[in-house]
Amino acid sequence: MIFLVKEKACRNCRKIVEEEKVCPVCGNTTFTTFWRGYVVIVNPEQSEIAKRMGINTIGKYALRLSR
Ligand SMILES: [Zn+2]
Repeated sequence: MIFLVKEKACRNCRKIVEEEKVCPVCGNTTFTTFWRGYVVIVNPEQSEIAKRMGINTIGKYALRLSR
């Protein structure tokens, strides 16, 4: 699979977006393209990872931000 769009992660909540200028989850406007690994949260209420990361919205989130 080839990603033509460079995905970026929200610096605040780590939500991964493509073209958005404003984070759809937290409203933050600063993103980084330097991130590694991701998790897809489908059921935040039942997910231990989501709880640990403080995520309560469905979506794809970066595990680590490098910068
Ligand atoms: Zn965010």
